[in-house]
Amino acid sequence: MAQRRLLPLVPEDVDLASLGEGPREECGVFGIYAPGEDVSTLTYYGLYALQHRGQESAGIAVSDGQRIVVHKDMGLVNQVFRDSGLAAMTGHLAIGHCRYSTTGSSSWANAQPQYAETPEGNGVALGHNGNLVNTLELARKLDVPATNDSEVMCRLLARDAEPSVMDAIAGIAPELTGAFSVVCMDEERLYAFRDRDGVRPLVIGRLPRGGWVVASETAGLDIVGAVYVRDVEPGEIVAIDQHGIESRRFAAAEPHYCLFEWVYLARPDHVQDGRSVYAARREMGRVLAREAPVEADVVVPVPDSGHAAAGGYAVESGIPYADALVKNRYVGRTFIQPTQTLRQLGIRLKLSPVREIIDGQRLVVVDDSIVRGNTSRQLIAMLRAAGAAEVHMRITSPPIAHPCYYGIDMATRAQLVGADMSVEEIRAFIEADSLHYISLDGLISATPTPKDRLCRACMDGQYPIPVPGEHEDHAQFKFDFEGTASSSVTPSAAEATRVADAREGRPVEE
Ligand code: SF4
Repeated sequence: MAQRRLLPLVPEDVDLASLGEGPREECGVFGIYAPGEDVSTLTYYGLYALQHRGQESAGIAVSDGQRIVVHKDMGLVNQVFRDSGLAAMTGHLAIGHCRYSTTGSSSWANAQPQYAETPEGNGVALGHNGNLVNTLELARKLDVPATNDSEVMCRLLARDAEPSVMDAIAGIAPELTGAFSVVCMDEERLYAFRDRDGVRPLVIGRLPRGGWVVASETAGLDIVGAVYVRDVEPGEIVAIDQHGIESRRFAAAEPHYCLFEWVYLARPDHVQDGRSVYAARREMGRVLAREAPVEADVVVPVPDSGHAAAGGYAVESGIPYADALVKNRYVGRTFIQPTQTLRQLGIRLKLSPVREIIDGQRLVVVDDSIVRGNTSRQLIAMLRAAGAAEVHMRITSPPIAHPCYYGIDMATRAQLVGADMSVEEIRAFIEADSLHYISLDGLISATPTPKDRLCRACMDGQYPIPVPGEHEDHAQFKFDFEGTASSSVTPSAAEATRVADAREGRPVEE
């Protein structure tokens, strides 16, 4: 049995709660039009299935045809909604949202659905998944300040909502630049629209008794018993009411679906272009086994997203598979304070090794990505402390070398270990015996989608949607908007310092 060793101390700038987790998605959206059904409770369950896309806040807006009621708060879906609260939210259509913040801070005001009143006193509620890159420009069109891109969008729609919300969307959507998969509603109709690149997913399903559902992923349909009908197409607006679906285009489709949804973000049971994410991840493992074989005794997944790929690697290589890492599922984000003791525990807070499997073995460890490198470094140290003879890392994405501006919190360029280090330098930093990333072409071959219809900007730097100031840092981009959204174009000293720190490579708090 190997001697118990302390793990490397987690650096002070690293969020302990983020260890053992991949990049953070920022939102899941859900919408339902179903007279006669308990739409609030169905929305609650829809959000439950989409909880992996955002865990900081949740909300539901419901309408009975006369008025819209919104309830939202900080926390997980089951923390925000109690049975009694849902029972009071009656109506025939609803939208729901769960959020992790990428633009605007994590606060109640930024929780969604956003709500705004029209000039005639009617309501518009909106939930958004994605990130706009021209929010600053859009915010200038409003008389009142807004704190994030989704609020700007909601206020613009409410401003123009009379006489027709559909017309308002058709007028405003072409002015939005960036990624947006949106559900919104007035008192009578459910609407959904998606950017012309279709960066984030958005699907439509039909309930057995005739209602309609819109959700970020097919898992949101499955959980309420809806059957997948089709995607909301890139560049399309749909309006749903008792007459069915009305469809209108605001732009020709130019698909650039997020490749990282396949690698990490989407649930394994999500189906896109006819293939499940599970099947694609399993194929990624097979591709990795062919591209980067190694002599080893056991293939180990990093939970949860590594499971399917590790299975594929094991089948292709003939090396046995074993669940040698157990996830401590109920360690919440909220209660992890960065004390010295917890920094020393690091990854042990999230993952526990099964020594019986690991001791004396040569491991192939399959993970989805390496963002900052601290999680991998801690993980490998923990496996060695548990007796691993060798640790060979295999990663199902190419190096993440560029920030994401389309809704995934991929840290700043300065914090991406793949931006400045070679693969060999990263291997040395995480102290693996070997490290191999899947090739970009290999990864794409595991999906059903051709290369020119995928966004892969965080991997190859080819941004399909132009990003103002892209050569600057992600922190600068965020700062530009936040400075204006608070009604001031002059940066505060703290903001200016934050940006300067990012440029100099010092850590910047997200
Ligand atoms: S930059 Fe990366 S994470 Fe962002 S949308 Fe493109 S592929 Fe997805």
